[in-house]
Amino acid sequence: MSYYDILGVSNNSTDEEIKKAYRKKAIENHPDKGGNEEEFKKINEAYEKINTNEKRQHLEFENSGINPNIFQNFPFGFNHQRRQPQNQQKETIIVVNLSLEESYTGCKKNITISSKIICEKCSTICNSCNGIGLISKTIQQQIGPLTTIQTTQIPCSKCNGKGKIFLSDCNECKNKREFEKTKDFTIEIPKLVNDNDIIKISNPLNSKEKIILKMKVTMMPNYNRRNNDLYYNLKIPLYDALFGNNWKIPHPSGKFLELDHRNIKNVIKPNSCKIIEGKGMNDNSRLHINFDVEIPTYRKDISLDKIDTWKKDFNNIFS
Ligand SMILES: [Zn+2]
Ligand SMILES: [Zn+2]
Repeated sequence: MSYYDILGVSNNSTDEEIKKAYRKKAIENHPDKGGNEEEFKKINEAYEKINTNEKRQHLEFENSGINPNIFQNFPFGFNHQRRQPQNQQKETIIVVNLSLEESYTGCKKNITISSKIICEKCSTICNSCNGIGLISKTIQQQIGPLTTIQTTQIPCSKCNGKGKIFLSDCNECKNKREFEKTKDFTIEIPKLVNDNDIIKISNPLNSKEKIILKMKVTMMPNYNRRNNDLYYNLKIPLYDALFGNNWKIPHPSGKFLELDHRNIKNVIKPNSCKIIEGKGMNDNSRLHINFDVEIPTYRKDISLDKIDTWKKDFNNIFS
């Protein structure tokens, strides 16, 4: 259950709607008024989390306990926009192509990662920063009666932030001191990633570098997606609009959804929409089916008598 579900709002609700829903729930479930204390706590937690998260639309990812398999220290976040790298870390962008089906189920992808690796033969650990490449600097500031002390990390000047210093002429690297290393990795892509979502990870070949995995999600034919809601355009001939049919709609779950309209007497209006709950990208989202009725352009030559009969029949059938 996501924080949005707890408040009974969707993840594209406005701040105002969320606030309103929270107040209502909090009053209803207040322990002083006989409400369940656990429930009340959950509501407060949900509201706090939604409010403090600057990228609300991706809260559900953080909430589902996903962990990419190769990286331990969880340098992992979803953003729609790239932020400026802090402390000048190198960032490499890798585009990850995936289908809507893969986004629905989550998947594993192979990516090739490269990095410059320092030559082991001619390098030794910098004794100024102990190989970390960064040193702590304490800044003390006096503002009125207050003294603030701030510690920041700055690149080590002795080794230029490399963590290593180089000894002598090296025939291994020809004094280039670095090698380009390339390796294939399997990464786990969580469920529900959307087009242009970003997953930020540490470079497994060099923990000082960041890799930005940019998701490129390809839609299934006739599908569109907004957040986790899906929109399917169902093209049907005019006679199906009048008499119904049993349609089988492909779904990113890999299954076909059956939509049986044969016993429904309402005529389907062009561009009318049917909503199926729980059949979007997850159980909490919806599938919107748009009936795209194709009106024929020409008719064959038929006698006027026949046309008159058909018109009468038509009048008897439809009201
Ligand atoms: Zn150093
Ligand atoms: Zn070397």
